[in-house]
Amino acid sequence: MAFFYNPNERILPTVVQLLLKILGDFMKGTFLYGPSDIRFEERPDPKIQKPTDVILRLAVTCICGSDLWPYRGINKTSGPTPMGHEYCGYVEEVGSEVRNVRKGQFVIGSFFASDNTCPHCKYGYQTSCVQREFVTEAQAPYLRVPLADGTLVPTFEAPDKDSLPSLLAASDVLGTGWFAATSANVKPGSTAVVVGDGAVGLLAVLSAKIMGAERIIAMSRHETRQKLAKEFGATEIVTERGDEGIARIKELTKGVGADSVLECVGTQESMQQGLKSLRPGGHMGFVGVPHGVHFDGDQLFYAHAHLHGGPAPVRRLLPDLIGKILNKEINPGKVFDLTLPLSQVAEGYKAMDDRKAIKTLLMP
Ligand SMILES: [Zn+2]
Ligand SMILES: [Zn+2]
Repeated sequence: MAFFYNPNERILPTVVQLLLKILGDFMKGTFLYGPSDIRFEERPDPKIQKPTDVILRLAVTCICGSDLWPYRGINKTSGPTPMGHEYCGYVEEVGSEVRNVRKGQFVIGSFFASDNTCPHCKYGYQTSCVQREFVTEAQAPYLRVPLADGTLVPTFEAPDKDSLPSLLAASDVLGTGWFAATSANVKPGSTAVVVGDGAVGLLAVLSAKIMGAERIIAMSRHETRQKLAKEFGATEIVTERGDEGIARIKELTKGVGADSVLECVGTQESMQQGLKSLRPGGHMGFVGVPHGVHFDGDQLFYAHAHLHGGPAPVRRLLPDLIGKILNKEINPGKVFDLTLPLSQVAEGYKAMDDRKAIKTLLMP
């Protein structure tokens, strides 16, 4: 019908294209196809599957250091694997049996969904919940969260934009760093050693500081991470590793060893670094997912070591940590040093893999 000149003629297709692109992105998610092969591609929108589910529209999402294990091919994956387990956002749809969260509320949850009612949850170990389910599709605009009543913690009101990175950090890395510190029995006056300078290690430094550690020795060789560790409360930096690293800790503690070690890596080397840096009777909290770690009974026996670790029961910690963030007592969101649109998620993985970024924030 081109009898008349329509000024919108050229703009319209562009607008339609743009709308399609935006709508298209809503129906996408992140998948790992194989080592170094991340794709953001079409998938069906998540739907309520059980009456205890909710659907969230994610405010922000991110890549975890632990996502690099499968990305690097160290953890094997079979076929396209959906990625992402750290999340916060707005409740979009609610299953018929959900009672504690309402549509429109802003909520934060942990990487393990939990009922918060079974004996393990009541004992404070929600990541061992008898009904636990790992959340695996959070690098996407929408997310289904199972066991919503037990898993999600709503905020009183929608948070300001500046708090979002910190609230997202509470979903895993802050909670995990905090658990490393409590497991390592950090108390006012403690000497704490933090092994690992990823987001969890850095937030373990922050947690030890909040818990009153007098000396916090961060083990890091990376300048930007050392800087952030100091900002979060590290009093000393050790760059040496292995036997030299252990010798350096012994030297700094006048031959005694550390009261607390916060192990945030999960390799044989980092565990040995931690264990041998402890004073007799000291505590090591270990939160790095172990990869090929073996302990020697004799060594453990004679070290007089207290060991406590595992997947952090973040759900137990969330109410307290969210309160500290919203009161501006802590700013864990500083660990995000790269922000990308969600559609560029592959670049985010690469930057973290190359250690050019500590942690990538993704904007849906
Ligand atoms: Zn994580
Ligand atoms: Zn439970």
